[in-house]
Amino acid sequence: MIDVHAHLTDNSYSDLPEVLKRAKEAGLEHIIISITDPSEIGRAREVLAIMPGFISLNVGFDPMTLSEEKYRDFERLVESEHIVGVGEVGLDHFYARDHGIRDLQEQFFRRSIRLAMRRELPLVVHSRSAGRAALEVLYSEGADRVLMHAFDGKSGDARMAAERGFYFSIPTSVVYSQQKQKLVKNLPLESLMLETDSPVLSPIRGVRNEPANLIYALKKVAEIKGVTEEEVVKITTWNAKNFFRL
Ligand SMILES: [Zn+2]
Repeated sequence: MIDVHAHLTDNSYSDLPEVLKRAKEAGLEHIIISITDPSEIGRAREVLAIMPGFISLNVGFDPMTLSEEKYRDFERLVESEHIVGVGEVGLDHFYARDHGIRDLQEQFFRRSIRLAMRRELPLVVHSRSAGRAALEVLYSEGADRVLMHAFDGKSGDARMAAERGFYFSIPTSVVYSQQKQKLVKNLPLESLMLETDSPVLSPIRGVRNEPANLIYALKKVAEIKGVTEEEVVKITTWNAKNFFRL
């Protein structure tokens, strides 16, 4: 199985070699890490070097950053680094309450979408409290290689996006989140991937998350879908490899 979304550059991972070892022992074959600020690139390169071939990189832009200078740095990294996707990028209406800020977020999001399409890279989208708004921006830009990560919007909106070929990565918090469980019920396995969003969205509240915990998301998805864990691994892994061209 593949953890398609983890922030292993986070400074809570002082024990990273052990974290990666536990991930391998838990049966993970690959991890995709995501940075959301250009300043994390140095640490990301160090993380990639710990287990070459086991980890790939996505470069994103935190929706709350809203800095032209930082955006240019992000753009430069997308143009120059060896990456498998652009993300996470998107909208965050949970933190951005003000309309001016939301408009500015949308402008950066649209530019990020065009950048990914120009580079022929897939998009990983953050859409906290902005599920439908983010989908509408993606539709209007004609984006078609899209992974909605930890989607917290309505299942009906998700299903319409899945019909257009968008993917959804189900985080480890699916063990207790009824909204995520509903999402799994309403989407076909063919549209799903698995993620931890480490260090957050832990299956055990209040505890640092890590890729080895992906097994909890796997078990819950298998239970909801009424299929074997092997079947979930097979389909979600294929989806991830195909989407990120791993
Ligand atoms: Zn994330």
